[in-house]
Amino acid sequence: GQSLAEVDPDVAAAVDAELHRQQSTLEMIASENFAPVGVLEAQGSVLTNKYAEGYPGRRYYGGCEHVDVIEQLAIDRVKALFGAEHANVQPHSGAQANAAAMVSVLNPGDTILGLDLAHGGHLTHGMKINFSGKLYNVVAYHVDQETGIVDMAEVERLAVEAQPKLIVAGWSAYPRQLDFAEFRRIADSVGALLMVDMAHFAGLVAAGLHPSPVPHADLVTTTTHKTLGGPRGGVILCRKGLAKKVNSAVFPGQQGGPLEHVIAAKAVAFKIAASEEFAERQRRVLEGAKILADRLSRSDCAEAGVKVLTGGTDVHLVLVDLVNSALDGQQAEDRLHSVGITVNRNAVPFDPRPPMITSGLRIGTPALATRGFDAEDFAEVSDIIAVALGPDFDDTTRQELRDRVDLLVKRRPLYPDLG
Ligand code: PLP
Repeated sequence: GQSLAEVDPDVAAAVDAELHRQQSTLEMIASENFAPVGVLEAQGSVLTNKYAEGYPGRRYYGGCEHVDVIEQLAIDRVKALFGAEHANVQPHSGAQANAAAMVSVLNPGDTILGLDLAHGGHLTHGMKINFSGKLYNVVAYHVDQETGIVDMAEVERLAVEAQPKLIVAGWSAYPRQLDFAEFRRIADSVGALLMVDMAHFAGLVAAGLHPSPVPHADLVTTTTHKTLGGPRGGVILCRKGLAKKVNSAVFPGQQGGPLEHVIAAKAVAFKIAASEEFAERQRRVLEGAKILADRLSRSDCAEAGVKVLTGGTDVHLVLVDLVNSALDGQQAEDRLHSVGITVNRNAVPFDPRPPMITSGLRIGTPALATRGFDAEDFAEVSDIIAVALGPDFDDTTRQELRDRVDLLVKRRPLYPDLG
C-alpha cells in the first residue's frame, strides 16, 4: 500500500495546504464546522469499498454483516437524539435528503409552499432551476420588510389561496427561530403536510437549545455537517406511517449504494452530539453569535451603515445588512478574507444589489466554538470584524487585524495532531 503522499503528491500537497488554511484562519461560514478526528477516521475507512444497496437486514449484496451493525447504530442513535419514530441515514447530502423527502409524499406538479431563496430559504425549497422548482408548483413566502421576521400571516394567506400539498419550513440564512406549532396549525387547516429542514440548527436542537421540529412535522430533514459537526451528509426523520415511503424514495428512488463510510462517520457524530461536551459547545455557539450581534451593533461600523438584521440572533449566525453601507457584500467578504476571517456574502431580503454582489454577510460561530472559542475569544473576533467593516480600515489596520487573528489562531489550535 502506498500512502497518499507517495501515490499522488499533487493531491497530497493540496490536502495539506487546505489543512493549513483551516488551522491558520478563522472559519465563520455559518454552514461549516470541523469534524472531530474520530469522524474523519470513520469516513476515511475501508467501508468505502462496500456495496450495501438496501437497508440493515435486507440487502441486495452479500457480506453486509458489519455495515449492518454500523448503519443500525446510526439509525438508533439519531432516532434517540431527536426523539424520532423513524430515520433514514442514507441521503448523500442535505439536498438529496430534501429530494427524497419530497418525492416520498409528492407527485410532479403538486404545489409546495416554501421560504423564498432571497429571504433565507434553500435552493431545494423551490428555487426555479433546482429540481424542486422544476418538479413542483412553487409558492413562496417571505419575511416582513420592517422586522425581517417570517410573515406568518402571509404563510397562512398563501396556504389558503394555493392549497399546497406540502409546506416547507426551514432556512439557510435566518437569525431567528421559527414557530413550528403555528406552521403545523396552518398546514392542518389546509390539509397540507409539514416538512421542516433543520439542516442549519440541528446541532442546537440536539443540545436542547432550540425548539425541536420533530413533534410538529411529518418529515424532518437535516444535514450532518453544519451545527451537528459530523461528516457531509443528510438524514430524513419521519413518523412511522411514512417510513416505508421515505425508505423507498431514498433507495431505489433517488440513490443506489449507500456511503457506509459516511454513515459510520454519522454514527460517531450522533454519539458525540448526545454528550454533555457537545451541549456545552453549542452553548458557546449561541453565546458567540449574541456577542457578535451585540458588538457589531455598538461599534463604529454601525455608524457607517452596517446593521444587524432583526437586531440580533437566537441561533448560530448573524446576518449583516449592508444596504446602507458604502461596502457591498463582495467587498466586505474580501476585507474579512484579507485579515484571515472566512465568511460568505449573502443577499438580504429586498436586496437592491445583484445576487453575485449582494448587500449582506452571513457570519456563523459553530466552527470557532468547535475550536474552543469562549466569550472572550468571541468578543475579540467580533471587534476585529467591526474594525474591518468600519470607516477607518486601511492597509495599516489590515496588518494589525491580521496579527490579532494570528493570536486567536495560536490560542485555539485546530487539529494539533494532524500536522
Ligand atoms: N437545507 C438547508 C437549509 C441548507 O442550508 C443546505 C445547505 O446549504 C441544504 C439543505 C443542502 O445541503 P447539502 O449542501 O449537503 O446538499
